[in-house]
Amino acid sequence: MDFEFTEAQEAFRKEVRAWLERHVPYDLRGKAFAASRADRDEVARLRAWQKTMYEAGYCAMDWPREFGGRSASLVEQIILYQEMARAESPQFVNRGGLSMLGPTLMKYGTPEQQTRFLRKILTAEDLWCQGFSEPNAGSDLANLQTRAVIDGDAFVINGQKVWTSMGHVADWCFLLVRTDPDAPKHKGISFVLVDMKTPGITVRPLRQITGEAEFNEVFYDNVRVPRANLVGRLHGGWEVAITTLAYERDLLTFIRHISLKNALHRLMRLARERGRGDDEVVRQKIAGLYIGEQALMLNGYRSLTRILRGGAPGPEGSTSKLFWSQVDQELALTASEMLGPYSQLKRGPAWAPDEGQWEFYELLARASGIRAGTSEILRNILGERVLGLPKD
Ligand SMILES: Cc1cc2nc3c(=O)[nH]c(=O)nc-3n(C[C@H](O)[C@H](O)[C@H](O)COP(=O)(O)OP(=O)(O)OC[C@H]3O[C@@H](n4cnc5c(N)ncnc54)[C@H](O)[C@@H]3O)c2cc1C
Repeated sequence: MDFEFTEAQEAFRKEVRAWLERHVPYDLRGKAFAASRADRDEVARLRAWQKTMYEAGYCAMDWPREFGGRSASLVEQIILYQEMARAESPQFVNRGGLSMLGPTLMKYGTPEQQTRFLRKILTAEDLWCQGFSEPNAGSDLANLQTRAVIDGDAFVINGQKVWTSMGHVADWCFLLVRTDPDAPKHKGISFVLVDMKTPGITVRPLRQITGEAEFNEVFYDNVRVPRANLVGRLHGGWEVAITTLAYERDLLTFIRHISLKNALHRLMRLARERGRGDDEVVRQKIAGLYIGEQALMLNGYRSLTRILRGGAPGPEGSTSKLFWSQVDQELALTASEMLGPYSQLKRGPAWAPDEGQWEFYELLARASGIRAGTSEILRNILGERVLGLPKD
């Protein structure tokens, strides 16, 4: 692609930059790279921020106009992300909705589902969570056992999900259920949309190493879901889920990259402030991270180009997720090493660097190689489905 920006694109950059300068809320700007998705108040502020961005025309700019986006070009999209990182804006809070469910509904949803759900994803009025994993179905997702039985015009759902991020604050969940227990395991699954306020749903937060409870166990006990909430074919949910996961590993990683870029800028600033900028080891590590971040960004551009040209993420999108998790963990570790004992200070004491966000970042980064597919599984996918290596 051509990396030169036209006059019109530079004018767009100026417009976005000025708008972000005026609008990024002060209390979120400081938390650009480690915003909490567990704390209800912070989630409420992040929701309001997404709505403000949507109203200004800056949320999901790449979505087609008919679905509430701007059908923006790749370059405009890139400029927006660059400027969001520069302004230390947090990512969009409804990222499961924006980057996973939205594109899935555009491909598999009925016109009624598209009308009902897409706009409220953009405004963050409906916050979405992802109900895929179960106690015995993580990497082996097709082993899921949560059952849905058809009763009149409804599915009746029974079972348990786990690791449901933001389940405690979400309004809706995109859920995988087993609708045909006698079919081979990939063939008996359906993809349904569930209102989290439906009677029979119990959400139990799980405390994580960060000290927060961002994800949850969710129990479904005779939960009735209208049949109209089925996405794609009955028993055809695996195909739909693969699309959703491909978007998660590819497009969502690109969006996560905003936090990573923010963290890298903060790290560089800290190195200068603490007089570590001349330390050869620190310089080398930061240079390595910078190169990694640029490679991630360019790979993201490649994916976005393919998507905007009408394509869809494929198994090669796993490269982004795999590489992002490595850079993310490396960055967290470099920060901890550079800050020494100060890196362990939580939010609170005045001498906690960046209000304790590094302690949170380092602990959260442990999860980067697990969420959205573990690194081992992504290597298997890349080996078998992209490089064509034998399964054994
Ligand atoms: C922070 C965080 C947020 C999450 N949010 C959500 C969410 O919102 N919704 C949701 O549905 N899920 C969510 N998950 C769950 C996540 O998708 C799973 O944790 C992940 O798929 C791994 O599944 P598991 O935990 O059951 O581990 P397992 O599948 O039991 O894996 C255990 C270990 O064995 C390895 N392993 C397993 N099979 C193979 C194999 N065939 N070859 C080589 N190695 C293998 C794995 O790589 C891993 O190291 C989240 C996880 C985290 C950490």
